Amino acid sequence: MFEKEKIFILGMARSGYEASKLLAKRGNQIVLNDLQTEQDLEKIKELKDLGVEIILGSHPDDLLDDTFKYLIKNPGIPIDHKYVLKAKELGIEVINEVEMAYRLMPKDVTLIAITGTNGKTTTTSLIYEMIKESGKRVHLTGNIGYPLCSFLEKIQKDDIVVMEISCQQLENVKEFKPHIAVMTNLSEAHIDFLKSYDNYKRVKVKIFQNQTKDDIAVLNIENDDVINVTKDVKSTVKYFSSKNIINGCYIKDDAIFYYDEEIIKLNDIKLVGMHNYENIMASIMVAKELGIDNSSIVKVLQDFIGVEHRLEYVKEVAGRIFYNDSKATNIKSTQIALSSFDKPIILLLGGMERGQDFYLLKDYMLHVKMVVCYGENKARIEKFANDLMIEVIVTDTLREAVDEAYRNSEKGDIILLSPASASWDQYKCFEDRGCEYKECINKLGGENNENK
Ligand code: ADP
Repeated sequence: MFEKEKIFILGMARSGYEASKLLAKRGNQIVLNDLQTEQDLEKIKELKDLGVEIILGSHPDDLLDDTFKYLIKNPGIPIDHKYVLKAKELGIEVINEVEMAYRLMPKDVTLIAITGTNGKTTTTSLIYEMIKESGKRVHLTGNIGYPLCSFLEKIQKDDIVVMEISCQQLENVKEFKPHIAVMTNLSEAHIDFLKSYDNYKRVKVKIFQNQTKDDIAVLNIENDDVINVTKDVKSTVKYFSSKNIINGCYIKDDAIFYYDEEIIKLNDIKLVGMHNYENIMASIMVAKELGIDNSSIVKVLQDFIGVEHRLEYVKEVAGRIFYNDSKATNIKSTQIALSSFDKPIILLLGGMERGQDFYLLKDYMLHVKMVVCYGENKARIEKFANDLMIEVIVTDTLREAVDEAYRNSEKGDIILLSPASASWDQYKCFEDRGCEYKECINKLGGENNENK
């Protein structure tokens, strides 16, 4: 399989590059096509040296013909792209890097796949950390930034592969069959790519489509859409719940339980917020299926500060606790962040002007004692805070905002960057914004803090 074939790779990015490299090394004839002309020159040279034919800048009409056996489509390419439609017409099999890597993966490996509208990266990371902590061999792969096919040479018999999988990636899988599949939740976000919510749900449920009763599906029992779409799965189903005591993982007496067994008190967990407790419960269900000991699970939950920029615990400076939620580029994410605390909050808000409705935060502002705003939309945020009669300080940059927040804070306050705005007015990406925020906080850690 995937040897001496002619294969068309549509879209380079990380997964197209890794797929081209792997398949060229296996003796296939590869044509790689991407509209984007600005590519990493070293990677282009490496692929050319392996004999990959690279066509950048256009999609010539006659490039794809029936001499190709497969079209490997980058997950980000629209499902109705002209080459995808033509491949179907010509009888060329359309798959993606995940499906190709799955078909080549040794079958004595345990595969765990995580999907859902929200919480994929956090849940995937937690599961990976728990397995690693227990001393087993494990690989972290998929949508989290490491294409599965880049691991194929490293994977050994009996290893565990933990994989985040997005709806874009599930769109073109066929044989893909995880031993344990997790669906954290479903909601009507990010559906542009799949055109409708019904189609999005149809694609998401493909994570379970090849499972049998020997495989496990871990589901959020409180999410009606998750339960509805999984009614007909053949997998053995296991549940977690943030609201009720169930057979599975649940919350009781401020602790997380697995069936009758108390695993950890909420107070001992570094992550905050009910959404994160859900991610944790999904992770515990998987860890328990794999026979991971409680001490490894507990150790990870005591130490895990969150995935970078997602309500990430940064540090405590003179009794003020800083969180970095730079990934919160919309109102919904900031609502979730604000719901996660019951202590006084100084909220850093602002960024690119997109006309978002800050008044949708109103019901979540109960613990917010001060807003510090910055960026393109600061004037609208100032008005919003004034209307709510919450003290507000207006600054130009995040650096000034951190200084002002700290200067006006007291011991016990939470200082939270959850900007409800994209970063592009002042930064290249939300990661750069989050990193600068953390740098500013680290500069606060001088001796003077002790005097505060
Ligand atoms: P994803 O990989 O699915 O984008 P992440 O784990 O990266 O999810 O979290 C991104 C953001 O999604 C978080 O900052 C938070 O706002 C929200 N989120 C995370 N987990 C959940 C959850 N279980 N339910 C609802 N929202 C969540």
